[in-house]
Amino acid sequence: MKKIIVYCEVDFVKKRLQEVSYELISKAFELTKKALEISKEEYFVEAVALCDEIDEESVKKAFLSGAKRFVFVKDKCLSTFSQTVFSQCFVEYFKEQGSDIVIFPATSKGRIVAPRITTLLDTGLVADCTNLDFIIRENKMFFAPTRPTFGSELMATILSKTSPQCATVRPKTFRAEFDKNLDGELVEFKPTSYEENRVKLIKTIFDNSTQEGDFSNTKIVLCAGYGLIDHKDKKYFLRLEEIAKKIGAKVASTRKVVDIGLMPQYTQIGQTGATVEADLYIGFGVSGAIQHVAGMKNCKTIIAVNNDLNAEIFNYTDYKIVADAKWVIDQLIEKMS
Ligand SMILES: Cc1cc2nc3c(=O)[nH]c(=O)nc-3n(C[C@H](O)[C@H](O)[C@H](O)COP(=O)(O)OP(=O)(O)OC[C@H]3O[C@@H](n4cnc5c(N)ncnc54)[C@H](O)[C@@H]3O)c2cc1C
Repeated sequence: MKKIIVYCEVDFVKKRLQEVSYELISKAFELTKKALEISKEEYFVEAVALCDEIDEESVKKAFLSGAKRFVFVKDKCLSTFSQTVFSQCFVEYFKEQGSDIVIFPATSKGRIVAPRITTLLDTGLVADCTNLDFIIRENKMFFAPTRPTFGSELMATILSKTSPQCATVRPKTFRAEFDKNLDGELVEFKPTSYEENRVKLIKTIFDNSTQEGDFSNTKIVLCAGYGLIDHKDKKYFLRLEEIAKKIGAKVASTRKVVDIGLMPQYTQIGQTGATVEADLYIGFGVSGAIQHVAGMKNCKTIIAVNNDLNAEIFNYTDYKIVADAKWVIDQLIEKMS
């Protein structure tokens, strides 16, 4: 039986898997069903986590999201992240076990190890994919990752000629799904041939500014677009913050707003920013460029306020408000006070 490996993202402080791991396992599990359906090929999902310890709950959740095997690559050298040691340990495991497909999270750590691993394996890598699929070409089934290309104007589906076929996918691109009827086996692997880590961790400091940009548990996102700029003034961004505080929402922004320095980078949603899956997204003066939409299209309910009835964003919304976004913000503040 063929397999899809999911390289899991580990929280090295809490010794547990990060949510993106379950998102990728769930998607890989969905792919196994597609492979069976379109070409009768049998695949299973193997979750591979590198760490010195891992909590039981994470292993269980990996099984519930679709992993048939959980490989715990365990060693003291894996207690904190090191790009060289992690790449070497994964490659050692991979060379023993092999696989046809490897999916990595496009997190900061995943983006560092994935190219190193694929170089060591002498194979290609499709980075920052927005979809993963299997397709049939000339009676053969191919792994078909899709990513934005040409300045993000087009989406390209790339069929790799090298093996294993590897892809990175950003957090929140797919939804983690858990099925209580699923189960799997836990296997340990002890790496032996890796170089000594030349980097020594002295201290861990948590950067609260990046946590502010973490939209993972945010239920309501109010997104400030370029249409909110008032004579290059931040007035309406501050007003949006005021509304957000009252309703427990977080303010996000588009890249155009970030580029002119009106909002910090960590608030940016989109292909080169954060991905949100909030219950409610409201865009104020956002045009709906494809690169922005890539980061918010999975929100459950999408509302946009734009004074142009033909704005692209309205192609993605559940509710359209064709109006001056500043006027709408003033009205909301007035009604809330
Ligand atoms: C490689 C690449 C990566 C990118 N990555 C990202 C990314 O991650 N995230 C991102 O956001 N962008 C990204 N972009 C930029 C993206 O292409 C757009 O330029 C950007 O999203 C536009 O921002 P905006 O909607 O705020 O501004 P605009 O496109 O200028 O739109 C402003 C909108 O406001 C409306 N408007 C104006 N005045 C009012 C008013 N008073 N009331 C109501 N509506 C009003 C206008 O009708 C317009 O639709 C990327 C671009 C490239 C090339």
